[in-house]
Parts: sequence; C-alpha cells; structure tokens
Amino acid sequence: MGPHHPECAGRLDAIADRLIASGLDGYLRHHDAPAATHKQLERVHAPEYIAAIEAASPEEGICYLDPDTAMNAHSLTAARHAAGAVVLATDLVMRGECDTAFCAVRPPGHHAERARAMGFCLFNNVAVGVAHALASGVERAAVIDFDVHHGNGTEAIFAGDERVIMVGTFEYPLYPYTGVDPLGPNMFNVPLGAGSGGEEFRAAMTNVCLPALEAHQPEIVFISAGFDAHREDPLANLQFTEADYAWVTGELLDIAQRHAGGRIVSSLEGGYALSALGRSATEHVRALAGL
Ligand SMILES: [Zn+2]
Repeated sequence: MGPHHPECAGRLDAIADRLIASGLDGYLRHHDAPAATHKQLERVHAPEYIAAIEAASPEEGICYLDPDTAMNAHSLTAARHAAGAVVLATDLVMRGECDTAFCAVRPPGHHAERARAMGFCLFNNVAVGVAHALASGVERAAVIDFDVHHGNGTEAIFAGDERVIMVGTFEYPLYPYTGVDPLGPNMFNVPLGAGSGGEEFRAAMTNVCLPALEAHQPEIVFISAGFDAHREDPLANLQFTEADYAWVTGELLDIAQRHAGGRIVSSLEGGYALSALGRSATEHVRALAGL
C-alpha cells in the first residue's frame, strides 16, 4: 500500500513470530498458498474487473486504485495467492484433511466488491472461498466478520443469496460507512459505537449473530478475521482484547461442530497494532485448534 502504511508486510511477521513464541506453531500444519485461478475469482468478481486489476498492475512504483488502495509490482501476485489460500483451506476442510484452517494472508479482502477495489482490498478472499464451497456442493455457508470495519464487499456479493448468511459486528460510524441498512435479509449486522468493548461485542454475538448462525445450520463457516477492533489498534476506536477473540472463536467452533462437521475457514482481514495483532491472531488460532 506504499511506504509507512499500516497494511504492511510486518503484520504477517508479527503473527508468525507470536505463533512460534507461544509454542503453538509446532501443533500446526503449514501449507503454501496457491494462486487462485481466473475461474475461481470470476465466481465473485466481474471478468472486466479482474482484467482491469491485471492491467493496472505496475512494473515498478505504486499505482493507486482509489485513495486507500494501491498496488506495487508484487500486489497482484499476492492478491491471487491470498484468494487461493482460502480456496485451498476450503478444499482441505471439505476433504476432511483438517477441521479448521487459518489463512495468514495479505492483502485483506472484505472491502473488495464484485467490480471495485477499496479499503486495501483487491480480491475478496473470503467470498472466493465461499463461492468455491458452494461450487463444490455446499448448500449452506456462513460468514462471520468481526473486523472493526464493515465487510461491505462480502455483503454486496452475497446479499439476497439464501445459501449464505453473513453476521458480524463493526464500529459505526467508521469507514466504509455502510452496514446499518443491510442489503438483504441474509445479513445480520450489529454496528457498535466508538468505545464499545468486549461486553458489547459478546452481547451482539450472543443476541444476534450466534442465533442467526444456529438457525442457518451452515455446512461450513468462514471467518473474516480482522483484529483491528482491538483496544490497541490505531485505526479504530473499539476496545476488544485477545480474550474476546478467543471467546468468539470458541463459540464459532461449537456451532461448526454441531452443524458443519467442525469445518471452519478463517482468513486474516485487518489488524494494525503489530503486537496486538500477533497476540490476537495467536489466541484465535489456539481456539480454532481446540487448544
Ligand atoms: Zn478493518
């Protein structure tokens, strides 16, 4: 995203370092992310949009797609592999080779719409995974998005698709200033005011999001795992802690085990305070692993 930008390569190092320091890394199986194919991307993105992103990819320097969203010479490759990671994770849990998977990827995806890059996002990684699951025969999928920013791209892609529900919390008002008027009956959005913390988050989950997931009985659960609602994050004003991320992940694991054979695919979205990101993602992965 350019120099001195919070969406930086150090984010993945922070997660990897903390997974190692916690001792959890040794319990995990690592996979390299393949590039998503055109066919996989075109399930959620317009072919003309994919072509435009490819055409915009610079050989050097930075190309701005909108004021927030830039590409360098490597961004297109990274974005293809970020989406491909979620496809591979979906295949792994669908084949029973693992129960849960966490995709430590950049760039994030949940702001990317069918034909628009925005909010540091080029391809909607989680949406590509959901569409892959649907194409593989899944009849009911769910997305939970607890990033501090509303996942407008995922909502726009799946609004009105009764095979999918999307539930989540986000700070409002805050970028991208959407979500308070859900685009479809399959969207369960809980905006939280600035300053809200774990108590408000757990109430929103317990009263709205988790019952909606329970009612939908998804065969696979996707998580847009943004950790920028953490109280140390510089980009927003919520007050979540590592314990909140561990709690919600445990609740999702319970639901997945009841309805989805334990299948969860989680993919990194935001999270910009590097230490808090590493700690939060580690607690999330620990809970996903049932440890
Ligand atoms: Zn975010």
